[in-house]
Amino acid sequence: MENVDYSLIIPVYNEEETLSELYKQVSSLIEKLDGEAEVILVDDGSKDRSYSLMIDIHNIDPRFKIIRFSKNFGHQIAITAGMDFAGGKAIIIMDADLQDPPEVVLEMAACWREGYDIVYAQRAERQGETFFKKLTAAIFYRLLHKLTQIDIPVDVGDFRLVDYKALEAFKVLREHNRYVRGMFSWIGFKQIGITYQRSARFAGRTKYPFKKMLKLALDGIFSFSNIPLQLVLKLGMTIIVVSLLGFIILAILALDRRVISGLIWLYFFIALTCGLQLFGMGLIGEYVGRIYEEAKNRPLYIIKTLHGLETDKIFMPHYNYQSKHDTTAAG
Ligand code: UDP
Ligand code: MG
Repeated sequence: MENVDYSLIIPVYNEEETLSELYKQVSSLIEKLDGEAEVILVDDGSKDRSYSLMIDIHNIDPRFKIIRFSKNFGHQIAITAGMDFAGGKAIIIMDADLQDPPEVVLEMAACWREGYDIVYAQRAERQGETFFKKLTAAIFYRLLHKLTQIDIPVDVGDFRLVDYKALEAFKVLREHNRYVRGMFSWIGFKQIGITYQRSARFAGRTKYPFKKMLKLALDGIFSFSNIPLQLVLKLGMTIIVVSLLGFIILAILALDRRVISGLIWLYFFIALTCGLQLFGMGLIGEYVGRIYEEAKNRPLYIIKTLHGLETDKIFMPHYNYQSKHDTTAAG
C-alpha cells in the first residue's frame, strides 16, 4: 500500500454517464488538496460501460485505482472494500454521482488538520430529489435517532473523512449487514459534522431503488437497536395483565350472581392466550437478540490512548481493540 495523505473512495454502480465528469472534478479537487492523493474506484458489479471507462481513467492517471467486484455486493460493502485497500492518512468516502460536492472535501481536510478524527457531512438541503425520498429520509433518520442507544446524527450519509487511526478501529468491525454511518458513530473518536447543500445527481438515475433503501433502513435499525424486540415482550405483558384484570372483573360479577355471556369469558380467554404467546416470543427474542449481538463479534471496547500501561501484557484478543498509534496528539 502506498503512503499518500489522502485516499478518496468512490463506489460505482452503473455510472457510465457520470464517470468522465467525475474524473474532471475529482482530479481538479486532488490538485487543491494539501498533500498527495489516491482515488479508489470500486466497481460494484456494474453492467454498463463503467468498468471500461474506469480502466481508461486509470491508464491516463494512475492515481485513480480500481477494485472490481465479481457481482453487485451493494454500496455499503463497496465502500468497505475501498477502505480496506486505502493507504492514505485520511480517507474520504464520496458518491460517484457528484451529489457530494467535491469542494466540501477541502473543508473536511481543514477540520482533519485541526485534529478531528472523523468529519461527517450533514445535509442542509437536498436538491433534485423526489418529495417521497426527502420525506422517507426525514422520517427514517429521526426514527433511528429515537430507537438507538448510540448517537447517530440525523441527515448524515456516508460522505465523510476518516483519519486512518479511526479507520483501523472500524476495520475490526466485520459484520455482514452493514450500516457504515452507524458503525462510525459506534467507534467513537473525535468527531465533528459540517453542513452542506446536497446537489442533484449529475446524470443518470438513483441506484438505490426502494427495495435497497428499505434494506439499508432496516440494517440501520436492527444493527443498532433492540427496541423492536422488546416491544413484543412489552405488548405480550400488557395483553396478559389486561385480560387477567378482565377475568377478575368477570369473576366478581359472577359471584354477584349476574349472568355473563360465555362469549365474554371466551373473549378474555383468547386474549390471554395471545398475550402468553407474544410473551413467549418476546422471551425467545431476547435470547435471539443476545445471540445476534455476539454474532456481530464487535470489539467490547476501543482504546484510543493508554498512559503508563501496555497492552502486550494483557489478554487482548481482537474484541478489545487498542489503536497501535497514540492518538493523544490528535486530541
Ligand atoms: N452504488 C453502489 N452499489 C449499489 C448502489 C449504488 O456502489 O448497489 C453507488 C452509486 O454508484 C453511487 C453511490 O453508491 O456512487 C450512491 O448511490 P446513489 O447515488 O444511486 O444513491 P442516492 O444518492 O440516490 O441515495
Ligand atoms: Mg446519489
